[in-house]
Amino acid sequence: MRTQFARARGRSTRNEGVGSSVRIGKVRKIIHIDMDAFYASVEQRDDPALKGRPVVVGWPGERSVVCAASYEARKFGVHSAMPATRARRLCPQAVFIHPNFEKYRAVSREIRDIFERHTPLVEPLSLDEAYLDVTQELTGIPTATEAAERIRREIRDETHLTASAGVAPNKFLAKIASDWRKPDGIFVIKPHQVERFLMPLPVRKIPGVGKATEKVLLEMNIETVGDLHRFTQEELVQRFGKWGTRLWELARGIDESPVEPSRPRKSWSSESTFPKDIPLEEVAAWIESEARQLWDTLQAKGMNGRTVTVKLRTGDFKTATRQLTPETQPASGEELARIGVELLSRFSFSEGAKYRLAGIGVSNFVGEEEEEEEEKDLFSRGDAENAE
Ligand SMILES: [Mg+2]
Repeated sequence: MRTQFARARGRSTRNEGVGSSVRIGKVRKIIHIDMDAFYASVEQRDDPALKGRPVVVGWPGERSVVCAASYEARKFGVHSAMPATRARRLCPQAVFIHPNFEKYRAVSREIRDIFERHTPLVEPLSLDEAYLDVTQELTGIPTATEAAERIRREIRDETHLTASAGVAPNKFLAKIASDWRKPDGIFVIKPHQVERFLMPLPVRKIPGVGKATEKVLLEMNIETVGDLHRFTQEELVQRFGKWGTRLWELARGIDESPVEPSRPRKSWSSESTFPKDIPLEEVAAWIESEARQLWDTLQAKGMNGRTVTVKLRTGDFKTATRQLTPETQPASGEELARIGVELLSRFSFSEGAKYRLAGIGVSNFVGEEEEEEEEKDLFSRGDAENAE
C-alpha cells in the first residue's frame, strides 16, 4: 500500500514537471458512496415478505454481533457491531437472518462495475462503501454532484438498492458528507463551504477521534472543530504527538490522501468464533470441515493457493497464526485439511488451552508474485458493515 502511494505521488510530481494536467495543487472531486443498510437491504429486496419489517443480519448465538440492521430495526436502537443477544432484547420481533456473503459480494461487484464506468480510481472500504476520485470523470459528466447523482440512479435502477453519497474536495469530508442525508441522500461540500461546514462539527466526527481522544479533547474544552482552531499546530503536537499535525490539518479541511484503487484479492479465508471455548481436538474437527469447504469455494473460482495459514485465539484472547507453504500446492480438500490440522501442532499455547476462535486461509495464489501476507490482510475481509 505504502509503495503504491509513493509511486502515485511520484507520478504526479513528474507530470507537473512536463506541464500536463496534475492533481497536486488542483481541486479534487471525491465522492464517497455508502450503501444504505446494505446486507439488510439486500435481504429485504430478495424477500418481499421482509419489506417494512425490522431485519437483523447476523449469526445467532451468544457471542455473535449484528452485521447489519434495517432502518426499521434501527428505530429500536439496534445497530451493526452490537451483540446479537442485545439486538434480540431490544427488538424481539425482528427477523434474524444469517448473512450470505456470497450474495453480498456479488451485489458489491455489480456496484463496483457501475463505479468503474465513471472512474478507474475506486477505493473500496468494505463491500458497501467506496471512495471515487471523479476529478477526470470518464463519461464527460461535468460536476462531481451530477456524477454522484448519476451513480446513485444507476445503482437504484440496476440493483434496486439505495445508496447515499458525499461529495467533497477530499476523502475525509466526502465520508462525513455521505452520512449527512442518509438514507438515500446526497450531501455536497464545495471547496468554499469547507470551513463553514467544519467549524460547528463535533470533534467526534473527525476520523481517528474515538472515545478516548474525544475525552481528552473535551477535557481541553474542545467540543467542536472550531474549538480546535484555538490551538496552534505545535500545541497539538505537544499534546498528541504526530497525530497532532493530522488533527490540525483535518480541522482545516486539509486531507491530501489519494484515492487508492485496490489490488486484486490476495487471500481467501474463513474464521469463526465458537459459541463456547473449545479444546484443540474440536478445533481440529472444525479446521477439517472448514478446509474442505474453503477448497470447494476456491475450486469454483479457479483459484490455486500455495500458502496455508491457521489462526487461533484462546479463551483469554491470545492470538497467533502459523503458516506453511508446502513445496507443491495442496491438490485436494483433504490435503488442505491435513495441512491445516498439522499447523495446529505448531502453536505454543499451553496444553489444555481452550479456544474461542479459529481461522484457516489460503493465499499466494498461482499467477501472483510470492509475497508474505500479513495476518491483518488475510483475515480482515471487510465483512462487517460499517456503522450506518
Ligand atoms: Mg453502509
